[in-house]
Amino acid sequence: MTSKEQRGIYIHIPFCAKKCVYCDFLSAPQPDAVIQSYFDALVREIRLTACEEEGYGPVSTVFFGGGTPGLVPAACITRVLAELRACFDIRKDAEITLETNPGLMDEEKLSAWRAAGINRLSMGAQSFDDRELKLLGRIHTAGQIREGFALARTAGFTNINIDLMEALPGQDLCSLQKNIEALLALSPEHVSVYSLILEDGTYLAEHLPEFPPLPDEDTERAMYWHSVRFLLAHGYRQYEISNFAKPGKACLHNASYWERREYLGLGLGASSLRRETRCTNTSDMSEYLSFTALPDIRRNVTHLTRQDAQAEFFYLGLRKKEGVSLEEFRDAFGSDARVIYGKVLEEHEKDGTLKERDGRIFLTERGLDVSNYILCDFLP
Ligand code: SF4
Repeated sequence: MTSKEQRGIYIHIPFCAKKCVYCDFLSAPQPDAVIQSYFDALVREIRLTACEEEGYGPVSTVFFGGGTPGLVPAACITRVLAELRACFDIRKDAEITLETNPGLMDEEKLSAWRAAGINRLSMGAQSFDDRELKLLGRIHTAGQIREGFALARTAGFTNINIDLMEALPGQDLCSLQKNIEALLALSPEHVSVYSLILEDGTYLAEHLPEFPPLPDEDTERAMYWHSVRFLLAHGYRQYEISNFAKPGKACLHNASYWERREYLGLGLGASSLRRETRCTNTSDMSEYLSFTALPDIRRNVTHLTRQDAQAEFFYLGLRKKEGVSLEEFRDAFGSDARVIYGKVLEEHEKDGTLKERDGRIFLTERGLDVSNYILCDFLP
């Protein structure tokens, strides 16, 4: 199967034990009754989608994201996976990831997840400093990260990601270094490192003066490069702006977004890419719980023009460390990218932010520092 033929399914679990101060994701604490009804609606959506998308597959990746999928009873995850297998052709060797908070991992849940077929865990650790964790409003401690990780290993998980955040309020290079060292001591197969972004409407944005100051832009960049160099020196390969993996352990599901492979997004607010059409589900919980037909919940259905798809090829593909292949662009669109994006490419090659090598265009180190601006230049 070529990588283009691989298919993915994303399942959104929009529940969290408590809202973190910086978070603007579609997630919130909810009573048990809502959680139960949500899984009924999710199963309904899986069945209806399978009828609509007959023949979708084989599916090589499934990703339970959130929110905190680790929060809900393991039986809910088992139910969804059983339903997916009944309705879609899920490959036997599919990568099946579940995101969890380190404070929610116990032996019982871990073994139920394994039995259901979860074979990759993503732990939202964010920091190994209890003071920083408290400041962020996280529900776990550094001790629970280590404990949860050890339990996951004992349960047989051999593919674990740890998320780390940098540029936290009051953080300096020294405290970041301690976090990276604590993370490396666990030796996870995969690491994602994200800088904290101040999002409008979050508790942090609205109460900023109550927090220690956020690092300035130069310090944030210094932190990014410090993490990159340290992870590379310890056997991780950087394969995307924020993602690092040991050999053979890159996340196949996330790679499918950057490579514009088709995926179905199921659940509240989930997005899909299918037949060059992007669409997003409603983010209104009561609408989602009571829907009876797929059009009731489908929102923002956008049929991508050829120009949109070409722009996405660069906008998403340049996030990968290896960049984009000019030959793949030609195969996909029958045109030469240098003819279509000649001016933008030339400009950024001249200012040293993009480079071509062996038929691929990629962001240079300088380009990585201003990637948001460069990627936007490809949009129509
Ligand atoms: S656990 Fe994740 S999704 Fe939930 S509130 Fe915190 S950052 Fe947001």
